Amino acid sequence: MKPDYPHLFKPLDLGFTVLKNRALMGSMHTGLEEHKDGLKAMADYFAARARGGAGLMVTGGIAPNRQGWLTPFGAKLSTSSEAKKHRTVTEAVHAEDGKICMQILHAGRYAVHPFQVAPSPIKSVISPFKPWKMSRRLIRSTINDFAHSASLAREAGYDGIEIMGSEGYLINQFIAPRTNKRNDDWGGSFENRIRFPLEIMKKVREQAGHDFIVIYRLSMLDLVEDGSSWEEVEQLALAIEATGASMINTGIGWHEARIPTIATVVPRGAYGWVTKRLKDQIKIPLITTNRINSPEKAEQLLQDGFADMISMARPFLADPDFMAKARTGRSQEINTCIACNQACLDYIFNRKLASCMVNPMTLGLETQMPQKVKPGFSGKTQSAPIAVIGAGPAGLSAALELAKSGKEVHLFESSKEIGGQFNMAKQIPGKEEFHETLRYFTTMLEKHEVQIHLDTQVSAEWLLQKGYKEVVLATGVTPRIPAIEGIGHYKVLSYIDVLKYKKAVGKSVAIIGAGGIGFDVAAYLTTPESADDALEQYYAEWGIDPTYQNRGGLKKPEDENVPRKVWLLQRSKGKVGQGLGKTTGWAHRLTLKRRGVHMWSSVVYNKIDNKGLHITVNGESTILDVDNVIICAGQESLSKLYEPLTKAGVRVHLIGGAKKAGELDAVRAIREGYLTANAIE
Ligand code: NAP
Ligand code: SF4
Repeated sequence: MKPDYPHLFKPLDLGFTVLKNRALMGSMHTGLEEHKDGLKAMADYFAARARGGAGLMVTGGIAPNRQGWLTPFGAKLSTSSEAKKHRTVTEAVHAEDGKICMQILHAGRYAVHPFQVAPSPIKSVISPFKPWKMSRRLIRSTINDFAHSASLAREAGYDGIEIMGSEGYLINQFIAPRTNKRNDDWGGSFENRIRFPLEIMKKVREQAGHDFIVIYRLSMLDLVEDGSSWEEVEQLALAIEATGASMINTGIGWHEARIPTIATVVPRGAYGWVTKRLKDQIKIPLITTNRINSPEKAEQLLQDGFADMISMARPFLADPDFMAKARTGRSQEINTCIACNQACLDYIFNRKLASCMVNPMTLGLETQMPQKVKPGFSGKTQSAPIAVIGAGPAGLSAALELAKSGKEVHLFESSKEIGGQFNMAKQIPGKEEFHETLRYFTTMLEKHEVQIHLDTQVSAEWLLQKGYKEVVLATGVTPRIPAIEGIGHYKVLSYIDVLKYKKAVGKSVAIIGAGGIGFDVAAYLTTPESADDALEQYYAEWGIDPTYQNRGGLKKPEDENVPRKVWLLQRSKGKVGQGLGKTTGWAHRLTLKRRGVHMWSSVVYNKIDNKGLHITVNGESTILDVDNVIICAGQESLSKLYEPLTKAGVRVHLIGGAKKAGELDAVRAIREGYLTANAIE
C-alpha cells in the first residue's frame, strides 16, 4: 500500500549514509545542556524521538570554546573528557536506530556573559554586555576551535554536526554589514565578511572527515536592517556547498528581529518560499523550516519542490512519535505543537528546563514518571469507574491519562462541546492551532474509550447516587465581575459574550483587564475585517518582503484597516502586558500598538453609565465615551461540588482553574490533569 506521505518517508541518500526519512528534528536548546546529569536526560529525550522515527536529530547549541558560551558555564565541547560524556547520548540514539548531529554554536555578541566577543564591538539589544572586538589571532583560533569541536563530536559518536550560521549568532555577525564594521581581511567587502564561515567549514571538513554529516545553517532571511541581501545569500550558499557541506539548513530571522517567526501568529509554512528561492541554485539537499507542524504541510512542501528535508523542532517536543504515527496512518493521533511557546521557549528564557504545554511528559517528567500504559496493554481494568467533571484542558488531560491506564472513565461537560477555555482561545485570529489540541483529545478519548457526556450538568447528589467513589473535579472558572458602579449597564459585556456568544460590539470599546485574555480580546476586536489571505496579511503587517528587494528581506509594514477604537486598561502600574509570555508578549504589544490600541495602566474605574466608562488615571478623571465596556478581569474558581462530595467520603481531586483560578494557564491545567491521573491507583 502507498504510504500516506510518500515524499516525507522517502529516504535521503547523502552518499556515505542514508537518512530513513525527510524529517529533521531541528536544534532547540532545552536547558538540559547545562543541567547536572543533563546528558543522561538528553540521552532519554533523544532516544525517545529516535524511537518515534525522526530521520535525523540535532542537539541544542554547544559552544566550541568558553567565549562562545551562551550563558556563564554554558555547554561546550572542547576537550576529550567532555566528548566522552556525550557518548551516553549518541549510544542511546544509535540503540534506537537513530542518527544525531551536534550543533556547534558560538553566541558572539548574543552571549550573556562579560567575555563575549564579536567581529566589531557593537552591543546587541538582547545582552547587557558589550562584546570585545576579536583580534585576528582570536579569529584564527576560533576557527580552529570549531574544527576541533567537530572532530570531538565525531569522537563522541555523533553522526555529524550542524554549524550554526544564522539567527544572529557569531558567524552571522561576521556576514552581515549590520554587525561587521571591520576593515581588515575579515570585514568590509562581502568576500571578506564570509571568509569566517568558509574557513570554518573547510577546516571542519578537513578535520572531521568526509564520511561525517556537516550541515550549515544559513541565515537566508535576516529580517533586520543591514542584514544580507538575497544575492549575498545565494553566493554564500554556493560557496558553502563548495566547502563540502552535506546539507544546508534554512535560518530565518535574527533573535533581535522584531518580527515573530515561529509564534502561533505565523501562518504554517510561511517561510518555505525562502528555501525554494535557493532550490535551483544548489545541488546538495536543502532543509526548510519554521512553523511546519503537520505531516500534511511537510509532505506538501516536499512534493511542491520547496526543499529536500523538513526541519521541525517543537513538534517533536509535543509528540516524540510524530513520524511513527504519520507512517502508520495515525496522524490524527499526533499531539500537535500549537506554537504557543508557553512551556518551551518561555521556560528556557526564564532559565527553566523546557517542557511542552500539550505534552507535560516532555523532559521534566519523561524520565521520572512511571508509564501507566505498559507495552502490549490494551484492555480495561476491573477498577471502579471514575468521574471527571469538566472537559476543559485539565479535565481532558486527566480523563485521557486515566483511560490510558485502563480505567473506566466518564467525562461530564455542561456545555455542548469539549475544550473549555480553549474554545475561546481558538476564536482569536492567529490562535487557530488550538483546534488541533481539541482534535487530538477528541481522537484519543475515543481511542481509549472515555465515555463523554456533553450538555450534562451533574450534581453531588447524582454522583453519589451513581456510586462514584473517585471524582476528578475540573470544573474550571467563571469570569470575575468587578464591583464597579454600573457594572450591570447594557454597554457591559464579558469576554465570553464576545468570544463565545458573538454578541455585537460597537465601534469604540474599553477593555477592563489587560491579562492574556484582555490582549486576546483586543486583538480579536482590532483584526481588519477584510483580512484576505492569512499569509499575505502576515507579510504586510510585519513588513516581510517575499520579493526580497532590500537587505534583510524587510519592507515598510502596511497600515491596517482597523475596525474599531480600543482602550486596554489595567489598575496596576507599569507596562501593560508585563505578565504575557516572555517570547511572545512583545509581539502582542507591538500588534496592538500598530493598531492604535491605547494601553493604559494605573487606572481607577469609577463607574459605567450612558456616557461611557468613567476613570481616573494618575489623579486625572476622564470619561471614555465608548459603545461597550468588556470585562476581562480574570476568573474565579468554580468548585461547588468539592465540599459535598468530600463530606460524603468521595475521593475528590481538584485540578486546574477549579483549584486555583489565579495564574491559571493551560500549561498548569494540562500538567495537573496528567499528574493527578497518574497518582490515582
Ligand atoms: P489574568 O492574566 O490574571 O488578567 C486579569 C486582568 O484583570 C489583569 O490585567 C488584572 O489587572 C485585572 N483585574 C483583576 N481583578 C480585577 C478587578 N477586580 N477589577 C478590575 N480588573 C481586575 O487573567 P486572564 O486575562 O483572564 O487570563 C487567564 C489566564 O490565561 C492567565 O494565566 C493568562 O496568562 C492565560 N492566557 C494567556 C494567554 C497568552 O497569550 N499567553 C492568552 C490568554 C490567556 P489589574 O489588577 O492591574 O487591573
Ligand atoms: Fe509547541 Fe507550545 Fe509545546 Fe512549545 S509548549 S512545543 S510551542 S505546544
